[in-house]
Amino acid sequence: MTAALALARNGFRAVVLEQAERLEETGAGIQLSPNAARTLIELGLEDRLRPLATAPAALRVLNAASGREIVRMPLGEAAAARYGAPYWVIHRGDLQAALAAAVTRQLDITLKLGMRVEDFVAYPKGITVSARGKAGTTEERGVAFLAADGLWSTARNRIAGNEPPRFAGRTAWRSLVPAREVFPEFREPLIHLWLGRDAHLVHYPVKAGRAINVVVITADSWNTPGWSEPASRADLVPRLAAEAWAPPARALVGLPEAWLKWALYDRRPLTRWSKGPVALLGDAAHPMLPFLAQGAAMAIEDAAVAAQCLAQNPDDAAAALQTYSATRGPRARDVQRLAARTGARYHLGGVGGEVRDAAMRIMGGKHLLHHYDWIYDWRPPPAFSIG
Ligand SMILES: Cc1cc2nc3c(=O)[nH]c(=O)nc-3n(C[C@H](O)[C@H](O)[C@H](O)COP(=O)(O)OP(=O)(O)OC[C@H]3O[C@@H](n4cnc5c(N)ncnc54)[C@H](O)[C@@H]3O)c2cc1C
Repeated sequence: MTAALALARNGFRAVVLEQAERLEETGAGIQLSPNAARTLIELGLEDRLRPLATAPAALRVLNAASGREIVRMPLGEAAAARYGAPYWVIHRGDLQAALAAAVTRQLDITLKLGMRVEDFVAYPKGITVSARGKAGTTEERGVAFLAADGLWSTARNRIAGNEPPRFAGRTAWRSLVPAREVFPEFREPLIHLWLGRDAHLVHYPVKAGRAINVVVITADSWNTPGWSEPASRADLVPRLAAEAWAPPARALVGLPEAWLKWALYDRRPLTRWSKGPVALLGDAAHPMLPFLAQGAAMAIEDAAVAAQCLAQNPDDAAAALQTYSATRGPRARDVQRLAARTGARYHLGGVGGEVRDAAMRIMGGKHLLHHYDWIYDWRPPPAFSIG
């Protein structure tokens, strides 16, 4: 939907084909770092997002076993001043609803739900995409096809070969807790990140502070693909042993009875994301582990750049998408790689964990933030400025 909005901003008509019958709340939070927030704001979404988003004052990193704070990386006003855009956290359903409302208002965008893309055929001057819905198969014709079909992308097989996603040996467990049930300090506008051996915990307020989004990532051999397998407190809590997890963290994880779990996968960086008038976008192009909270942010950046490249070269979609792929590839690859390395660091135990904590403490919160400048300070290349 972000890509469709960016395309409409650049004078194109866009059709969004989504296999889901309904846009439903997917019960989890999402961090929108300034690089993502800036792009969404430039697309006119600020008024819809700001009332629902929280701008956390800091990322508070804690040692899971001792419960002691390692470092506090300033966000809030510090991030807004440094990057010219906010660092937000928001419920995914609220982000999706804001995008859907903007898409619905935009006459140049048609959102077609319950339509599963099954095939596409490229011609010298365009593309035909076939999609199946309840009423049968229909065809859409256009100048370009942006395939944003996620980690298990089938379009990717046509562009880059059939190498399957790689299981990362980890599970993400997600739940939402009513804010009134948690310790008052966990209701504060902060992102809490607890680092433990082979596991970490992240929580922050969403729904304008009414709920707390809780995510635990554990080492695991469970590798069933999919988004949302039901799980229970009894499955999760024993994985966070009392000697390795401070009581407030265990108490928080012990609150919800129902969890959803999700096996983590990524893929090797691709050298090329486009073929003729077809290009991959988002997780289809660069699925990454969630340790930098950048997967959706990269998809949002992709959307802006793809639209801008097509606007600059509207008569040659293949060349435009080649430029898009060349522009985006190195950055997405660097973020994918750093996400994987960050995961390994987060889950260190013993001496390795102590060294990591000491290094973060010495670095201090302000420098830790500056360390991420190359990610958060991103803006579309000036030649491509939106609108
Ligand atoms: C635990 C966890 C936490 C995360 N936290 C963050 C975070 O804080 N910040 C962040 O930026 N990222 C985060 N991410 C990553 C983020 O969720 C993904 O990068 C993002 O959802 C990718 O978006 P996408 O649109 O590319 O793909 P998806 O979200 O996978 O969407 C793909 C869409 O394509 C549809 N589709 C698939 N095939 C077809 C077809 N044939 N026809 C029609 N429709 C089709 C699907 O139904 C789906 O709606 C996190 C990921 C995990 C696992």
